[in-house]
Amino acid sequence: MIRTRDLRHAYPAGPALAFADVDVPQGGVLLVQGPSGAGKSTWLALVAGLLRAQTGQVEVAGQDLTALPGAQRDAWRGRHLGFLPQKLHLSEALTVERNLALAYYAAGLAEDRSAIAAALQALGVADLASRRPGQLSGGQAQRVALARAVLLKPQVLLADEPTASLDDAAAESALGLLRACAARCGATLVVATHDARVRAALHDAQVHRLDAAPLPA
Ligand code: ADP
Ligand code: MG
Repeated sequence: MIRTRDLRHAYPAGPALAFADVDVPQGGVLLVQGPSGAGKSTWLALVAGLLRAQTGQVEVAGQDLTALPGAQRDAWRGRHLGFLPQKLHLSEALTVERNLALAYYAAGLAEDRSAIAAALQALGVADLASRRPGQLSGGQAQRVALARAVLLKPQVLLADEPTASLDDAAAESALGLLRACAARCGATLVVATHDARVRAALHDAQVHRLDAAPLPA
């Protein structure tokens, strides 16, 4: 579940953003829609606890993120939240398999090699385990990043512009994988996008529309 109240964020020397309240039940699907610059990535970062809310409250899977100090928020995120960022943040210094192992490191948990193999298998990229991210196509890299995001069976899965630069067939496949991964974990799924095609693919999703112009700083 996700519950936000009176969330605002002002960037230093940037716009002040104010967000409508959101309630998503556990296992629900939320589409965060709006044009470029509307604040979608900022909202995701607040819900992921990557940005600390300056005003307001964020509760995710029963945890009040605004009440947790930074280190605890990071540990909580590592264990309970999966994030597929727009820029995938796979390390070129590591193989695909070692990139997945990072999820355990970030969560402070012992590595489970068979779970890594199973996650790669579930996303159809098991044969790429010993490659470096630079040796993957865009779609393959996204699957690897998604495997890492869902490795620890998160309660919430967030995806930022997952269809950017994908053709129609690849976009549909990416959204199908996100849905399937979220369903396997019983996770709440959040997809932030300015891509109008996503609305059709996630037609039953709850919509959080961001189109208000930023408040003057
Ligand atoms: P979206 O994801 O919908 O395109 P963002 O959340 O990335 O929107 O950005 C919302 C607004 O905040 C934009 O006006 C953007 O320029 C601004 N912004 C984003 N990140 C920063 C930052 N680190 N510093 C200052 N302004 C920022
Ligand atoms: Mg964005």
